[in-house]
Amino acid sequence: MSWFALPSSRRRGAAAAPAAVAPDVAWHALDAGAARAELDARLRDPADPAPATDRASGLSDAEAARRRSRVGRNVLPPPPRRHPLRRLLAQFANALIGFLLIAAAVAAVLGHAVDAAVIVGVVLVNAIVGFVQEGRAEQALGALGSLLAPAACVLRGGERRRVDAADLVPGDVVLIEAGDRVPADLRLLRARGLLIDEAILTGESVAAAKRERSVPAAAPLAERSSMAWSGTLVAAGQGRGLVVATGEATEMGRIGDLLRSIGTLRTPLLDQIDRFGRRFALIAALSSALLFAFAVFARGYEAVDALMLVVALAVGVIPESLPAVITITLAIGVRRMAARHAIVRRLPAVETLGATSVICTDKTGTLTRNEMTVRRLSTIEGDLFLDGVGYVPVGTLHRAEAPQTPVAAPDAARRLLEIAVLCNDARLGVRDAHWQVDGDPMEGALIAAAIKAGLEPAAEHARQPRLDAIPFDARHRTMATLHAAAGGAPWIAVKGAPEALLALSGRQLASDGGSGPLDRAYWDACIARAAAAGERVLGFAYRPAPDPASLPADAIADLVFVGIAGLVDPPRAEAAAAVAECASAGIAVKMITGDHAVTAAAIAHQLGLADAGEVLTGADLDRLDDAALRRQALRAGVFARTSPEHKLRVVRALQADGAVVAMTGDGVNDAPSLKQADVGIAMGRKGTEAARQAAQIVLTDDNFASIVAAVHEGRTVYDNIRKVIAWTLPTNGGEALAIVAAIAFGLALPMTAVQILWINLILTITLGLVLAFEPAEPGTMTRPPRAARAPLLSPFMLWRLVLVSVLFTAGVLGVHAWSIAHGLDAAAARTVVVNAVCVMEIGYLFNVRYLHGSSLTLHGARGTPAVLLAVAAVVLAQLAFTYAPWLQALFDTRPLGLRDGLVALCAGIVLMAILEIEKRVLRRLGVFESALRPTPARMAD
Ligand code: ADP
Ligand code: MG
Repeated sequence: MSWFALPSSRRRGAAAAPAAVAPDVAWHALDAGAARAELDARLRDPADPAPATDRASGLSDAEAARRRSRVGRNVLPPPPRRHPLRRLLAQFANALIGFLLIAAAVAAVLGHAVDAAVIVGVVLVNAIVGFVQEGRAEQALGALGSLLAPAACVLRGGERRRVDAADLVPGDVVLIEAGDRVPADLRLLRARGLLIDEAILTGESVAAAKRERSVPAAAPLAERSSMAWSGTLVAAGQGRGLVVATGEATEMGRIGDLLRSIGTLRTPLLDQIDRFGRRFALIAALSSALLFAFAVFARGYEAVDALMLVVALAVGVIPESLPAVITITLAIGVRRMAARHAIVRRLPAVETLGATSVICTDKTGTLTRNEMTVRRLSTIEGDLFLDGVGYVPVGTLHRAEAPQTPVAAPDAARRLLEIAVLCNDARLGVRDAHWQVDGDPMEGALIAAAIKAGLEPAAEHARQPRLDAIPFDARHRTMATLHAAAGGAPWIAVKGAPEALLALSGRQLASDGGSGPLDRAYWDACIARAAAAGERVLGFAYRPAPDPASLPADAIADLVFVGIAGLVDPPRAEAAAAVAECASAGIAVKMITGDHAVTAAAIAHQLGLADAGEVLTGADLDRLDDAALRRQALRAGVFARTSPEHKLRVVRALQADGAVVAMTGDGVNDAPSLKQADVGIAMGRKGTEAARQAAQIVLTDDNFASIVAAVHEGRTVYDNIRKVIAWTLPTNGGEALAIVAAIAFGLALPMTAVQILWINLILTITLGLVLAFEPAEPGTMTRPPRAARAPLLSPFMLWRLVLVSVLFTAGVLGVHAWSIAHGLDAAAARTVVVNAVCVMEIGYLFNVRYLHGSSLTLHGARGTPAVLLAVAAVVLAQLAFTYAPWLQALFDTRPLGLRDGLVALCAGIVLMAILEIEKRVLRRLGVFESALRPTPARMAD
């Protein structure tokens, strides 16, 4: 509830406002201390003198819980969903449906009650099916939103903790840094180089600089630089703020439902289908009019009969349920992807994933487990090795030549670990009976190493408290902290990529504790040794502080280099299998990492990416112009020591060559490349909120194998959509063509108008739906990706449309002629024909289920539960249609004997056989290769 920050007139649904509410306060005008006092005064229960928020330790858990029970959770109400009734009515807002309803009215007026009723039935069934499907699709997408709930870093009882952002209450002290989404409205207590992108709130695209100083009470929103607003993104720097408004009381809450994270149910494919459908309907309407004229004037039909026939044809031929079935296919894909740890934020990604031809992936945490252990310490005193597993801080130090003999850490190694512990934001502790890291796993591993070597991290922090910090930045690949020294001058601890530090160092720590000239060759050899072993290398350096009070960026120079640490991060077991799957699926995998080239190459080798090609470094990229990069990017399998800007260039280069690129990212600066990529994939665990917002897919387990699983699902979805179309169009076309042919050649009508409507009614809700639920065909990941810009109606599809329509027509007319010839009357003959049509549709369904292989396998014949259920439903419906007296009366059908039933069955079997032979012949001849086996998108050769 928003009772403490908004005057009641602007509140929404805030009935239970406590009596102690004061009018609105301009928090931005108060200095930070006053803001805190004011807030605490308001939230204090008169009966219970609550403790004031402490700037250093935050609220206690009990106090936070008390406030939450009064104020409510920090969430915005979900965007209003469309009322079910409106959604149902929307199903009727469709030109075709209008057309049908008018036809029904005409039929009713002309005394054709049965026809009118059946038409209304078709319309209703269609609307209900569409309504239910859309509802389920919306629900599936809605449920994903909650899986992406943001977290916040908060001080509670003196401890830094990550909590669900929804658990924040006014008075909490929140820490924010680059890449975070601000979790509530904050009065800033501290701002370090803090830039916040407030475009979502103010429309201003340049990030706003923030500082602690209060601003005038009348300052407009965009100028309240002492505030950080909920929902905005931290572009740079770090800060700490006091929560002054949560949930609906935030500025974001006031402007309403902006924050729909998941888009609507629209994709390019659906738009394409819609356009296609409209054109199709227009053509159908025109030809219907022509047919009507022809039937009445040339063939002497009664106008009313001709009208009913034309209406039935229009209903039959127009694929009115296609968009709904495709929507449900997409929604099922989304659900299957979620089950495999890939959350879809934007629906079109489902389609694009299936066409992905290159996956550019991070290394750390995606291909590797991101469970680091320090193995090696290289200082001027040589290499030392550490044993022990995981983060358990138990182990010893030894030299390579004597693995069994523990040694004490020499001074240089102690100095290195001291920097490692101080220039470190992680915490290591036992949770759920396991040693776990809170923060960066690499930093956690450094703490474990320091403990193994006999240091006491807590004591180090107490002895040399941190005064200021420059957080790790992927662009410079360094992190620095400023420390007070017990009894000495303040100094700066720096860690980062060794090459970066060496470039900033002039001297090195000497064995006597002093410093000597930098021996670049010595260190390069150390780095090479560690990197060749696949270790992640990290350098350490220090210097006296030029300014004891703060740490400007330009102070990171003239460093004294201390040494390097080598960390192992084992590859994920499932990653190698996923890489192999990509190879068979014609998808190139490129590793893009900030890590050292040799380390990256070693890991690539372990994962079977070795033959992926050469290694390009960020420096190489800087030397290449775009044209040269285009050529090189295809060949390179590993991009090392890259900065986020390089990713963007690599994506563009690959795309320029026609590749469909999926790109992973986690940092703030990855947003541009995630947006540029055809499929941007953010890491759900270690990724920043900025990366998630820019991405189309979020991985909940950060695992490369999940990307490949999502591609697999994406291909399946696209296949199923093609199957839906490949089944729907020709069957509709076949029914229509048979009638047109009968009229054109002056034959007796093989089906009546109501019977055509019946077929439509039954098949739409049974066979028409099952293809959406199809599992992946075998071999989905052994064929190359489809060409991205291939039209939906491929030449093969058009060929099938014609062939199957003709076969249906032949079947209908043939069965009809046979029935008449064998003495059935007109009504009985039509009954046989309707049954034959249904059997043919079932037969064709089984054929379509395997576009890429034969359907005549045991597996294929068995079908899925969905298929069997649908077929059973059709059979039951047809039995009723043929034998139930009231349906006989409605549809003018006759009970059939066994012989006639077998004829209907034969029609289906013959059709299936012909199409199965066709599939084989076409494949043998290599015709329509692209449809039966989609051609590769242009790829690296
Ligand atoms: P990756 O692509 O493997 O995720 P990063 O961009 O995270 O690589 O890191 C690149 C390099 O930056 C690392 O090899 C390491 O040397 C350095 N580095 C990474 N994290 C930190 C950190 N927290 N502090 C200092 N240096 C770091
Ligand atoms: Mg990283």
